[in-house]
Amino acid sequence: MMLTMVVDIDHLLATPIYDPLRCSIGFHPLHKLFPIIVYALACFIPKLRFIGIGLIIHMILDSIDCQLSNGIWFT
Ligand SMILES: [Zn+2]
Repeated sequence: MMLTMVVDIDHLLATPIYDPLRCSIGFHPLHKLFPIIVYALACFIPKLRFIGIGLIIHMILDSIDCQLSNGIWFT
């Protein structure tokens, strides 16, 4: 499960690194709609299932964080 935290590397590519008023979803390269679809598909591949589920959970948590601070689910 720790492996899925690798997607947070793309948070580090952004400037500023952390902005509470910014939505991760739709902003970072690995948090756009296309990668999220890939993560969802990974859930159906037995070897990739845990990584896929972990990444989806990560996206949901980022989205909730965005909803709480901005009132929107994605940008
Ligand atoms: Zn994230």
